[in-house]
Amino acid sequence: METPGQDYPPMSYPKEQLHFGEEVSYKGSPLLEERELKVDIRKIFNDLRNLDWSKVVWRNVVLFTLLHIYAVYGLFLAIVFVQWKTIIFSFMLVGMSALGITMGAHRLWAHRSYKAKFPLRFVLAVFQTIAFQNHIYEWARDHRVHHKHSETDADPHNARRGFFFSHMGWLMYKKHPDVITKGRKLDMSDLERDLVVRFQRKYYLPLVLLLCFVVPAVIPWLFWGEHIVNALMVAAFLRYALVLHFTWTVNSLAHWVGIKPYDKHIYPSQNKIVTALTFGEGWHNYHHVFPWDYKTSEFGGFTEFNFTSFIIETCCFFGLAYDLTTVSKNWIAMRAERTGDGSYTYINDKDELC
Ligand SMILES: [Zn+2]
Ligand SMILES: [Zn+2]
Repeated sequence: METPGQDYPPMSYPKEQLHFGEEVSYKGSPLLEERELKVDIRKIFNDLRNLDWSKVVWRNVVLFTLLHIYAVYGLFLAIVFVQWKTIIFSFMLVGMSALGITMGAHRLWAHRSYKAKFPLRFVLAVFQTIAFQNHIYEWARDHRVHHKHSETDADPHNARRGFFFSHMGWLMYKKHPDVITKGRKLDMSDLERDLVVRFQRKYYLPLVLLLCFVVPAVIPWLFWGEHIVNALMVAAFLRYALVLHFTWTVNSLAHWVGIKPYDKHIYPSQNKIVTALTFGEGWHNYHHVFPWDYKTSEFGGFTEFNFTSFIIETCCFFGLAYDLTTVSKNWIAMRAERTGDGSYTYINDKDELC
């Protein structure tokens, strides 16, 4: 919890995390290459020709191809055949699984930007399992190494390797050895002690099959007589593919396009589209500079479409979440003045922590 006048770093903050966002700064930005989004067929062809095909993880290529075929079929079914109850149910699953990632895997477990009581951790682990983006332990380890070694070979979705690689290509290609060695050096003892994380990790495969595919397909069939194939294609595959792409935009689009009010020497940028797709995770320049802030942005709640912050604050109000960590306005302004791109505007709103 921030106390008036408190500056970074909060004294209780784990040592490992103190480095997040600091080591990634490329002081003297000539290292930053120009990034623009354009489709260059010749470059794509060249990249494919020079690709080391022995490093392609073919199992994932096949699975992602099948997923996208089913998702497109699911979209057709959703438009033409599927009952409105199934559509609403699918949207609810999008919301739940998105929160499992943003509020659970990201802000709680990867960054420890707030603490949560057991019932909340349990629910968030269920939501995170519905999202099927690797178990919490692996998700958090990949994310911590992304922050600590951003835009280097040790970054699992290093955006220097191209837009497609940072979006989803990294999941179809063998990890760079640096990702593994640097990942092993991270302190993950907090997650090793967390009963919820340990349980989910131990039984991940059956849990993920049950919660990501079986339950979403069975509920519409059982409760309102939806055809089981329709339910599977829409509430499971289409919903799963959408949340995957929404999440991946944080690693791709938010590392390519947007302003940098807090640090112009790094790639992560403020991106409204990503924010809208991810319940408030697109304020990525701020997040890489101040990764311990539970809001992942300067402003919480609905001010910046930050639905996740609103839910964390609501849970805090009911005593389920506590020790929300944030950054003082003065500290933010000083940092923006020192390293920002000049687009920063000082707004002294009062942060309403519960
Ligand atoms: Zn990032
Ligand atoms: Zn993060």
